[in-house]
Amino acid sequence: MSSPTVRLPLPHIPGPRGRLQDNPVPGHKKVLLASPRGYCAGVDRAVIAVEKALERYGAPVYVRKQIVHNIHVVTELESKGAIFVEEVDEVPEGSHVVFSAHGVSPAVVNEAADRGLQAIDATCPLVTKVHREAVRFARDDFEILLIGHEGHEEVEGTAGEAPDHVTIVGSPEEADTVEVRDPSRVVWLSQTTLSVDETMETVRRLRTRFPDLQDPPSDDICYATQNRQVAIKKVAKGADLVIVVGSANSSNSVRLVEVALEYGAKASYRVDYAHEIEQAWLDGVETVGVTSGASVPEILVQEVLSELAGAGYGDVEQVRTAEEDLIFSLPKELRQDAGGRRDERALGGRRS
Ligand code: SF4
Repeated sequence: MSSPTVRLPLPHIPGPRGRLQDNPVPGHKKVLLASPRGYCAGVDRAVIAVEKALERYGAPVYVRKQIVHNIHVVTELESKGAIFVEEVDEVPEGSHVVFSAHGVSPAVVNEAADRGLQAIDATCPLVTKVHREAVRFARDDFEILLIGHEGHEEVEGTAGEAPDHVTIVGSPEEADTVEVRDPSRVVWLSQTTLSVDETMETVRRLRTRFPDLQDPPSDDICYATQNRQVAIKKVAKGADLVIVVGSANSSNSVRLVEVALEYGAKASYRVDYAHEIEQAWLDGVETVGVTSGASVPEILVQEVLSELAGAGYGDVEQVRTAEEDLIFSLPKELRQDAGGRRDERALGGRRS
């Protein structure tokens, strides 16, 4: 029996196409395409949560902060009726509000409740895991050194679970100067989307100063961040240029550029869209590595590949370093349809 055809609206990709020229280089032009790349399970779930909320409750549905850090995803959801706000005090009382994949502090949850908002929590379960660790270590009166970027939403949310116990450590250099109350009761936790290598260097320096430093019960840097970094390390070794598709505020995308440069790429740039690739980047380039951050839909990568093919890089070799099949249940508020039946999209499957 054949499956019914499903028609999905094509996303609008801004920008001109086919601008790049096919200039000659001494060797054979090709693309090394990193895999895994793009959407992770937490992003997939968060985007589907907003779409489901729009289907179920109708527009507008409010979303606190960008649901995931990708300008294309946000623009697409806005066109469907999502309204993105910075804080819950901008949401009309009684409305539905979705908390983003990066998580929120208890203060935000309480403020939403005080305003009578109907909250849907799309916090990635792997971020929630770090929140729980923060709560537990604070309860046991540990000082928590939270490795992460000050001002990032995820770090604000995690720190907000135990503000009196958390000190943010932003870099290996900060590990050399951070002060703690009692060096015998210190633990480190981290943001989920950091560079693995840099975080380990930060921990090494912290441990030099605080030998009793405890490790988190399991990795805080999530599987998706780690897998994408492993894949780009392998690609970067053989690439003259690495293009990372992802937005400027996407921590894991920015880290991929840094990792590519560290592991041998002669140059690396981040783009939101294919039309941002500059002709000069391709001068003398035989091999282009391509990857994308965890919040990037595959359509944007395919656009980059098509633009590169127009410049003579039509030979694409996939460099696969891991298989991913993790999927998360939708937020509990959305797991059943209006009639109380389990929703067929209760699990966010990988989408292209
Ligand atoms: S990058 Fe990791 S922590 Fe962030 S949403 Fe994806 S799976 Fe969750």
